[in-house]
Amino acid sequence: PVYLDNHSTTRTDPRVVAAMLPYFSEIYGNAASVSHRFGWEAAEAVERARTRVAEWIGADSKEIVFTSGATEANNLAIKGALPALKRRGDHLITAASEHKSVVDVMKRLGREGWNVTFVPCDETGRVSAEAIEAALTPATVLVSIMAANNEVGTLNPIREIGRLCHDRKIVFHTDATQAVGKVDVDVQVDGVDLLSLSGHKIYGPKGVGALYVRRRDPQVRLQPLFDGGGHERGLRSGTLPVPLIVGLDKAVELMICDKAEDSTRIRGLRDRLEAGIRGRVPEVQLNGHPTLRLDGNLNLSFAFVDGEALMMAMRDVAVSSGAACTSVEPEPSHVLRAMGRDDEAARASLRFGVGRFNTEDEIDYAIDLVAESVGRLRTHSAAWSA
Ligand code: PMP
Repeated sequence: PVYLDNHSTTRTDPRVVAAMLPYFSEIYGNAASVSHRFGWEAAEAVERARTRVAEWIGADSKEIVFTSGATEANNLAIKGALPALKRRGDHLITAASEHKSVVDVMKRLGREGWNVTFVPCDETGRVSAEAIEAALTPATVLVSIMAANNEVGTLNPIREIGRLCHDRKIVFHTDATQAVGKVDVDVQVDGVDLLSLSGHKIYGPKGVGALYVRRRDPQVRLQPLFDGGGHERGLRSGTLPVPLIVGLDKAVELMICDKAEDSTRIRGLRDRLEAGIRGRVPEVQLNGHPTLRLDGNLNLSFAFVDGEALMMAMRDVAVSSGAACTSVEPEPSHVLRAMGRDDEAARASLRFGVGRFNTEDEIDYAIDLVAESVGRLRTHSAAWSA
């Protein structure tokens, strides 16, 4: 089978695995143990990682909090920021096209009495700075907008939105899980106060991520999600997963080294995939922005095809479908809906995510399978024959 689901998760790079291994069985100390070498060496590795992640996004190492991933980072950013902001106002802004780990946090806050505006995205999935500006009220205290969408790959104008917020002293959080390492992200230039990222989207291990928290800013004073030993400057108690953090460090190092080469190659493969499918399959619609999009992303809707049947037919190529984004929630994708796609188009969509380890042969195999599957399914479609 061919793996083309790199927005969902990526294979851990073998170089990352190699870097992690000694931290399981040789350098296994607790990074919080200050009295012996086992602890010091673990702590040193953690601080090296912290510095690397910070420099990568234009931050200071004291501004990085390690978490279990982006879901936790998003929860900590938004829920953590609100107690300090409550006096100033009760209005929050996000977008309908955000990841569930932002959308559902915001929905909960809405039930708890916060006033939440979900701004619409346009038909390409993009959230404009104008839409954010139009939603602002004097009570707005926090805006959360993702840097790149995980389903359609569309890039948002983070810098414009960040500056808009910065000028008004509104806290700006961005979920940059899909964007970091692929597009330039700099928390200073972009005016970002809180930024979430995750290891397993960048060829690092699952179960580790980070939150950037702007320092020396009275607006940005986070409360932790849980209490305990006071690790991570009191913001994230719990023994640090040193091997995972070392893995994140290595993954970031590789993202930096390989960026230009990966980007060109991945984009080339993605374009080959799109051209190949379009050359053989009529009535295909692109979901996402034609140019302002992640290199590896291709999200297509196939008219006159049943989404579930298409997904079944694609079993030898791992992709995601707008039909059943997660097995626990077999609803058509909320992102495609927010972009104005009807339920049928949303269901009959496939998300391809090309990554570092894909080859031309794999792309060609995927093109063949899509063309054959869609062709066969359409012969069963009355509407297609009509
Ligand atoms: N945000 C975005 C944009 C994502 O794509 C994902 C992963 N699907 C997450 C958040 C959640 O990340 P994690 O798996 O690290 O919790």
